[in-house]
Amino acid sequence: MDGEKPKKESLAAVLLPRRQARPSWDEYFFQIAEQVATRSTCMRRQVGAVLVKDRRILSTGYNGAPRGISHCTQVGCLREQMGIPSGERHELCRALHAEQNAIAQAALHGVKIDGSTLYCTHQPCSLCAKMIINSGIVEVYFDKGYPDELATGLFAEAGIRLHRMGG
Ligand SMILES: [Zn+2]
Ligand SMILES: [Zn+2]
Repeated sequence: MDGEKPKKESLAAVLLPRRQARPSWDEYFFQIAEQVATRSTCMRRQVGAVLVKDRRILSTGYNGAPRGISHCTQVGCLREQMGIPSGERHELCRALHAEQNAIAQAALHGVKIDGSTLYCTHQPCSLCAKMIINSGIVEVYFDKGYPDELATGLFAEAGIRLHRMGG
């Protein structure tokens, strides 16, 4: 009788260890938001936002100047020049926030975002929070904090669920 043939490793056994751990849906969309943020032209922080409903991406946005307008990285940013602290005097910067751009992109293309979830690299500011509430977004996932207590209060009052990634 022949001895047992040496066991051949299955293809899956060979390939599986090389694969990255499969992310959860929340991790997956959050990782995409982090990728979106790399397109930002803000001189202070790169923020990315992704709007999702039923596991479909509806819209994305990063912080930067409106279409056809020079970016802060090209012409300078008044907030930077005046040494305005983080979270204050947003109106002095020419850029839109990532969340605002994601909402505007949806409007531009006629995509309904009522009932959607926002994945954002940073906690939204109070101005974005107000837009998020009235856009019908029901849930927000973020990672990095932002010095804006009004925003968290507005979300709580509006019943929007806030989740910190990894926390
Ligand atoms: Zn700026
Ligand atoms: Zn904002």
